[in-house]
Amino acid sequence: MDKIKMTTPIVEMDGDEMTRVVWKMIKDELILPYVDLKTEYYDLGLEYRNQTDDQVTIDSANATKKYGVAVKCATITPNAARVEEYKLKQMWKSPNGTIRAILDGTVFRAPIIIKGITPFIPSWTKPITIARHAYGDIYKNTELRAPKGSKAEIVVTDENGNETRALIHDFKASGGIVQGVHNTDASISGFARSCFTYALDTKQDLWFASKDTISKVYDHRFKDIFAEIYQNEFKEKFEAAGIEYFYTLIDDVVARVIRSNGGMIWACKNYDGDVMSDMVATAYGSLGLMTSVLVSPDGIYEYEAAHGTVQRHYYKWLKGEKTSTNPIATIFAWTGALRKRGELDNIPGLCKYADALEKATISTVESGIMTNDMAAISTNPNKKGVYTEEFFSAISENLAKCMGMAE
Ligand code: NAP
Ligand code: MG
Repeated sequence: MDKIKMTTPIVEMDGDEMTRVVWKMIKDELILPYVDLKTEYYDLGLEYRNQTDDQVTIDSANATKKYGVAVKCATITPNAARVEEYKLKQMWKSPNGTIRAILDGTVFRAPIIIKGITPFIPSWTKPITIARHAYGDIYKNTELRAPKGSKAEIVVTDENGNETRALIHDFKASGGIVQGVHNTDASISGFARSCFTYALDTKQDLWFASKDTISKVYDHRFKDIFAEIYQNEFKEKFEAAGIEYFYTLIDDVVARVIRSNGGMIWACKNYDGDVMSDMVATAYGSLGLMTSVLVSPDGIYEYEAAHGTVQRHYYKWLKGEKTSTNPIATIFAWTGALRKRGELDNIPGLCKYADALEKATISTVESGIMTNDMAAISTNPNKKGVYTEEFFSAISENLAKCMGMAE
């Protein structure tokens, strides 16, 4: 069988610890036998980031801008312990943060649905994708204590020095607290465009909610910007694709999501996204089944798994012990990137291969063979928890069958 040819490279961002081990297994056992893989390789492993003073992270993000599609392995975000462990020159910033700042993107997280791994809300038969606006609000706040007898005001000074003031509170009777938060039209617009773009791309409805009835200027601005961009740039495309943009209040959307079957993208303001993404991820089950994609407002895609480097498993692996590490979210990062490259470059064979690898992976778990994290929550009566290597062999066998049928 001839290997599938690619025309444009995928930006490949290698990473750390157990996910770096799994990364190589995915390429060697599942991709390279079928695809004449073309990547532009960047080593985002912590050692090389340190060697290059983190320049490699910036270079990989710029390459993603150039080519349009990247796939990223989980990476260590250094803390004090890591500075010591890796003898770092300094506590380098989170690579994800650096890449997101350069691409100005929004992160979309969605669970992989597998029969036998039932969400805590069993009616959620389709994935719920959460998009979190990752700029501003309380995450860039200014806060003060206000002593009894003080008065707090909000002041905006324009470029000519004219002041607009409003009273926040007169702390006559009791001291208290005040908080100033902001957002920008540019950031909200970028968020909105990423959400509309991704909804079109995945043919799913987009839901967005805020509390504009209470926050008549701040949250209302979010609502208006979304409405304006939808009307001017996306309405016709949504109608042609048969999908819907739906705005409601945050408390109403929570009730609707709980009663739904899933299958929508839920765009959240920063804090709502922080909270709701943890709730939704937990409700669907394993961290090893949560995918993540960063989408820029102009449609650049960076795929990854939502989980980290699975450090505890790596230390076992280093000692020569076997681990049962779930590679599925990382496999789906690769299939996401390969399928997107196939779509952009018009290589249907590459898209079919990505479909086949996903199918082979899911059918392996549905046949009962799975890593321990899934076995712990699976209701499959034939379930069997296996080591990482055995799981790969089973997927690889299934994939060979799928690819044979596709001939
Ligand atoms: P983690 O790597 O997500 O792992 C936490 C625990 O979740 C693991 O110990 C394991 O539980 C379970 N788990 C996660 N993924 C799994 C998988 N694929 N298969 C099986 N079990 C899985 O989080 P962490 O240990 O807090 O962080 C480790 C490193 O990852 C940190 O240095 C952090 O900076 C980095 N990180 C990177 C990213 C990213 O690059 N996007 C995201 C988050 C964290 P058991 O040990 O009980 O088996
Ligand atoms: Mg959170």
